[in-house]
Amino acid sequence: MTQLIDSVSHMREIRKQALNAKQSIGLVPTMGNLHPGHASLIKQARNENDLVILSVFINRTQFNSPADYSRYPRTLKNDFALAKQENVDYVFVPNYEALYPDDYQYKISENSLSRIMEGKHRPGHFDGVLTVVMKLLQISQADRAYFGEKDFQQLQLIKGMADAFFLTSEIIGCPTIRESAGLAFSSRNTLLDKQQLEKANVFYQTLASTQDCAAITKTLTAQGFKVDYIEEYAGRRYGAVYLDQVRLIDNIPIAYEC
Ligand code: AMP
Repeated sequence: MTQLIDSVSHMREIRKQALNAKQSIGLVPTMGNLHPGHASLIKQARNENDLVILSVFINRTQFNSPADYSRYPRTLKNDFALAKQENVDYVFVPNYEALYPDDYQYKISENSLSRIMEGKHRPGHFDGVLTVVMKLLQISQADRAYFGEKDFQQLQLIKGMADAFFLTSEIIGCPTIRESAGLAFSSRNTLLDKQQLEKANVFYQTLASTQDCAAITKTLTAQGFKVDYIEEYAGRRYGAVYLDQVRLIDNIPIAYEC
């Protein structure tokens, strides 16, 4: 049975019981509006753990734009239905006050990888991400926590944080799940109409082409995207663009550096 939990103390109690029963816990942190990308993380967690906790929390400290935060899709009823379908044990849905009793007085900061690409274009974003993930890992004491390669820079930073702070949770990266034309599933895709969705595929297709970063930027700009960055770093090509008001990010492995 899938159970909805909204209090930190209840979640910790469940963790304690699991520990006594020697049950392993897999945590899948999300901001909701679940799609097949999230479902693949849940499935992997289900396969590898006795208990699965799915967290649904739209973490406002990682939004550097208030408009982006207020526009973010909120679909808890559907999310709970999907969690049930995927056999999730606990859906953890805390509110801001529950997760931030300090009102964000304390935060986790990284001062290298978090300052480029997403971090450069969204100041403070990774402080918010790392802080909320640290809180969720502390509350759940998860044996394993699952994150998507869709947000590869985030995944690397979370792995780095887990190492730096000797966290006992294993951080597991999961492949990006895409629609048939290549667009990565994303909660923000639901903000796009049919025509915009078709155009969004061009972002992935161009990013994955053999053009260099400058040429990709030029092609996407000519197609009407506003390019935040197209950059190659440590064997991957990363990109972020605006399609009208909606910001899309993606990354792919590459065989060479530009
Ligand atoms: P979000 O709800 O967007 O914060 O994402 C929650 C988790 O799902 C993060 O670890 C994301 O990287 C992961 N995720 C989001 N989209 C995808 C996707 N298309 N494929 C795989 N993982 C994804």
